[in-house]
Amino acid sequence: MTTNQKQHIETLAIHAGQPAEPVTGAITPPVFMTSTYVQDGPGGHKGYEYSRTHNPTRQALEANLAALEGGDFGVAFASGCAATTTILHTLSAGDHVVAGDDLYGGTYRIFERVMKQLGLTVTYVDPMRPAAFGEAIRANTKLVWVETPTNPLLKLCDIAQVADICKGAKLPLVVDNTFMSPALQSPLALGATAVVHSTTKYVNGHADVVGGVVVTSDPQLHERLRFLQNAIGAVPGPMDCFLVMRGVKTLPLRMERHCQNGLAMAKWLEAQVGRGLIERVIYPGLPSHPQHELATRQMKGPGGMISFVVASGRLPALTRSVNILRAVKLIACAESLGGVESLIEHPASMTHASIPVAQREALGISDGLIRLSVGIEHIDDLIADLAQAFATAD
Ligand SMILES: *Cc1c(COP(=O)(O)O)cnc(C)c1O
Repeated sequence: MTTNQKQHIETLAIHAGQPAEPVTGAITPPVFMTSTYVQDGPGGHKGYEYSRTHNPTRQALEANLAALEGGDFGVAFASGCAATTTILHTLSAGDHVVAGDDLYGGTYRIFERVMKQLGLTVTYVDPMRPAAFGEAIRANTKLVWVETPTNPLLKLCDIAQVADICKGAKLPLVVDNTFMSPALQSPLALGATAVVHSTTKYVNGHADVVGGVVVTSDPQLHERLRFLQNAIGAVPGPMDCFLVMRGVKTLPLRMERHCQNGLAMAKWLEAQVGRGLIERVIYPGLPSHPQHELATRQMKGPGGMISFVVASGRLPALTRSVNILRAVKLIACAESLGGVESLIEHPASMTHASIPVAQREALGISDGLIRLSVGIEHIDDLIADLAQAFATAD
């Protein structure tokens, strides 16, 4: 697959990093289930010595995901959190990070309960205000971290504007692109230094693997990450790499349906506002989203993540929310997102329970907030399921 003409993502998803296997011609990259590689004599290896360091199945996945993000290098990890932690290990005690204030719960936990202990400090800012990132930069700031859309409030951050600020301050910008996938948002093209994914979500898309990746075109950062990938050792196994490669082949196709279903579901939910149960729907694809204009500019589609707020009525919002989550039949009550199957969850008691209550409430993660990961089932079946669940709320 060496051609100078830049191919489209639908083609890259299937072919990038996947040449036919040279010995047999197998069209699908084999799963190299091996920990070590035989050498002719000391040092006489074929570029592979030990699978923490190199594995051909992992290399195929890394090349594929790098191509999808439009980057030169991909570095794969055992989970999104392993990818995040390894990036943060490029920093040293005394360094300072500026990050958006509405982060994936696990990322916040890494900052607060793992990295602070090792001497990093973090300032959290409103991701909707690019200037806030600039204002928080100090002499010892070494990294800027952005997630967009945020989880679960779906706030957007203008990547190009924050990237300009970072360039001016000569700081690397890392964007967590998990909620959009490479099919819907290209942070490197907007000026980011590196992109991180939990491949567990849309990239794999089939709810059967936990994984992560970092993509960058910065050779120095890549060299450091490659060193840390091997030194820390949070690497994915070859079977997981194979499964992610298999899942990613349909990523652009799946994202089209996630966007269609997401928009249809968001419109249906918004039509329920004012009938006493739903207070507000948050979805970047709706004109009612405060940053809808940025969404249409920065994202190729609105994605499959929707949040909505259940109002208090005769029963408190918490009880009504729990009732809805207990009553869904087709849509599964579960953490995680981005798979072919629809999932529903309650951030305050599930994914974001690790964030202290006061801070959670200050952020707007209220007891009535529900997050929906809209899958690729038939939209009528999804709406019918939510409608029957809503009928049981009181
Ligand atoms: C899930 C997730 C992560 C962490 O990834 P894991 O694979 O669960 O370790 C990071 N960022 C976002 C936005 C996520 O949704």
